[in-house]
This record gives sequence, C-alpha cells and structure tokens, in this order.
Amino acid sequence: MQSPPKIGVIGAGIVGLSSALHLLRLGASVTIIDRHEPGSSDATSYGNAGVLARCSVVPVPTPGILSKAPSMLLRKDGPLFMRWSYFPKLLPFLVPYLKASGKETVEHIAANLAPLLHDSVDEHLSLAKGTDAEKWIRPCEYMFLYADKAAFEGDAFGWGLRRKHGFEWYTLEGDAIREVNPALSADYKFAVVMKDHGMITSPGNYVEDLFKAFLKEGGQFEKANVRDIEARDNTTTILTDGAQIKLDRVVVACGAHSHFLAKKHGATVRLETERGYHLELIGANKSLNIPVMDAARKFVASPMDGRLRFAGIVEFGGLDAPASKGPTDLLMRGAKAMLPGLEFETKRTWLGHRPAPTDSLPIIGQAPSGEEVYFAYGHHHVGLTAGPKTGRMIAQHVMKTQPNESIDAYRCDRAG
Ligand SMILES: Cc1cc2nc3c(=O)[nH]c(=O)nc-3n(C[C@H](O)[C@H](O)[C@H](O)COP(=O)(O)OP(=O)(O)OC[C@H]3O[C@@H](n4cnc5c(N)ncnc54)[C@H](O)[C@@H]3O)c2cc1C
Repeated sequence: MQSPPKIGVIGAGIVGLSSALHLLRLGASVTIIDRHEPGSSDATSYGNAGVLARCSVVPVPTPGILSKAPSMLLRKDGPLFMRWSYFPKLLPFLVPYLKASGKETVEHIAANLAPLLHDSVDEHLSLAKGTDAEKWIRPCEYMFLYADKAAFEGDAFGWGLRRKHGFEWYTLEGDAIREVNPALSADYKFAVVMKDHGMITSPGNYVEDLFKAFLKEGGQFEKANVRDIEARDNTTTILTDGAQIKLDRVVVACGAHSHFLAKKHGATVRLETERGYHLELIGANKSLNIPVMDAARKFVASPMDGRLRFAGIVEFGGLDAPASKGPTDLLMRGAKAMLPGLEFETKRTWLGHRPAPTDSLPIIGQAPSGEEVYFAYGHHHVGLTAGPKTGRMIAQHVMKTQPNESIDAYRCDRAG
C-alpha cells in the first residue's frame, strides 16, 4: 500500500487548522508548523468579532470611498486610522486597493465571496462535529444598527449586493429593536436582522479545541518560525530558524504574514495588514443576546463566553508597530454610546492583523512554481467565517480529489 503524502501546513489560525483537519480527513499525514501555540493571541483568529458573517460579501472599498475616506480618517469618531510614518510603504498597496472600489470590481468581488461564505455556518458545524470545538459554535441572527431609515438607505449599494446573492433579512424600527436587545440605545431607530447567521463564542478557545482534535486524529505539530520554503521535484523543504523539515507538499496559511513566504513561489497579489482592535469588558452590567454591528461607527459588539467583545477599526501601519491607543478609546466611546449606563469590572484590549489583499479576495490554490506549494490566505474581514470552506477547498486540491467548486477567482497571480 502507498504511504500517505506528507503535507505541511504553515500557520495554525482558523485557515491553517481547517486546512490541516480536512487534509487529515482525506488521508494525508499532516504536520502544522507555527511559531506560536495554536489559539494564542498572536493569531488574528484569536481576537476577531466572532461573527460567522455569511452576508459579508461587500468589501471595504466600495464606490464613493475616495470621497468618504478623508472624513472617516479625520473626524473625531472616524473608524479609520493611519500611522503616517508607514504611509510611504503603504502607497503601492493603497493605489490598487482604492482602485478596486469601482462598481464592476466590487460586483466581481461579491460574486466570488458569496460561494465562500454562504454555507459557512454549516461548514463550521461539519468541521467541528464530534470535537470539543463544537460547543463554541452558536447559530444565531446578526443585527445591523442604524440611526434611522435614511442611514440604512444610504447603504443601498451594499444591501443590493447582499440581496442579489440570496441573503434574506427583516427590518425593525423604534422600540422593536429594544425588544430583541433591551440594552441597546434608543438612538438606534432602524435595524436590519440577518437570518441564519452564527457566531463563535470564544474564537481563541475554538481554535485551541480544533487543534486538540487535529492532534487526536493523528496530526503532528512543530513550533517553529518558518523562514523559507524550497520546492522541487515533488519535495518541499521548510527552513525554520533551527532546522529543515522535508515534506511532499506544503500549504502556506500564515494570514497577514503569508506574502513573505508566498512571493518567491509566484504570488503576485499584494498583501497588507489592515490592523484591527478589540476591547473586551468583563463583569459588564449590560448584555447582548446576538452580535450587532454599528453601521456608522463600523464596529461589532459580540456576546462572548463570559464577556462582551467590541471589535473593528481599520488602521494602516504595518505588522511591526505597537498598538495605538486611539482605536481602543474609540471602541470604548462606541460601547458606551451603544449600551447607555454601561459599567464593567475589568477590560482587555487586543491588536490583530487582517490579511488584506488589494482586491479583498483571498488567495487559494496551487503556486504557479509547481505541484509542491499551495496557498490559503488573505481572507481580510471574513477569515473566521470562510476558514473551514477554504480548508475543504485547498485540501481537495492538494490531495487531487474531485474539487466541489472552482477556485480560479482566488489565483495567486491574478491581476491585483
Ligand atoms: C478586529 C477584527 C475583527 C474581525 N472580525 C471578524 C469576524 O467577525 N468574522 C470573520 O469572519 N472574520 C473576522 N476578522 C478577520 C479574521 O479574524 C481573519 O481573516 C482570520 O483570523 C485570518 O485567519 P488566518 O488563519 O488566515 O490567520 P491568523 O489567524 O493570523 O493565523 C496565522 C498563523 O500563522 C502563523 N505564522 C505567520 N507567519 C509564520 C511563520 N513565518 N512561521 C510560522 N508561523 C507563522 C502565526 O503565528 C499565526 O498563528 C476580524 C479581524 C479583526 C482584526
């Protein structure tokens, strides 16, 4: 009998772990390599808002972004931050990123995010079934909050795209909003409630439990920083700080750090980090029963296991700069405005790195350099949601089984 192919997965965030579990279940011998323990706060998969945001087919840059961006950046409570010393490094990314805000491009992005996202709650349930991770998945509705109906109508382009891709919702006005979530401010007079969504009630614990399932099912783990990948003649050598690991094939799933390894193997889509933050309040006197998005302030409030998490903000400033204070102060002001009378015992803050490709579509598939290297990264605002589906897709390609869907739109050498 032929021995199973030896596959390495670099990165143990939600995308890497999902890929590794699917590969194991297709019969591969799988080793995950990560420089941190899986589930650690260094991965973006730890600190996100936890929403299984099936409907998030609309990218950040949409028509009109050029006129809106200065106010988002400069007004007191604007959700966009810039570390200006990083601006010269950002420019080569920023130009194509903003250019991707045209109507036709955004429609193309939405059309290719929809198949990744639409069945994401089922994909999570299927990946975690029978493991300890299952308990962190909570199917639920997801509410978008607006000051009034006119503000909702101002977002008509995005809602039109969601409708076009089959997402359904109902709306609430006035006090009907507070019947669902009594703690919410009366300043929200209009809400959209998305059906059939879901959340992960503690993303770090979820990743940790998926990792335990991976080990239980026969997977291996190496804690190491990967510096380079050499690939030729159906053999891959992963060069870490202190060693070489020889495998048949490798999947790069390093989130916002992926480009350092992927570029040499033909990935041309530029990748930046969109820095994002969370503020967690423990022992709060207010609660939420479903995750809610403040559509104007652009943050999500999620009822996590034993705490409230407020997450969002886009800050450009690279991978290395320390956390800024402004974003978490803004989240605190937003939290207090959202939940009047809010008090709490303790707070925690966190900075994470969304992997942001210029055209907001992930990079999934084989490297053009050969059969040995594969990519699964660049999931921007929707990596938690799309992780398990991405893992299934890449595993089918690595193992050369019959793929369920085309992944051509996620090619690493597309124009972008
Ligand atoms: C504030 C915020 C809120 C968000 N909210 C949501 C949400 O509600 N829903 C949603 O779907 N998405 C959300 N996201 C996005 C989502 O969190 C990311 O898209 C997703 O976590 C990316 O997962 P990943 O596995 O690709 O990367 P990561 O989770 O970052 O994992 C990458 C792993 O690679 C490892 N690594 C990197 N380089 C190397 C190397 N050279 N050698 C070894 N190991 C390496 C890292 O240590 C890390 O463990 C949010 C993001 C932020 C910042």
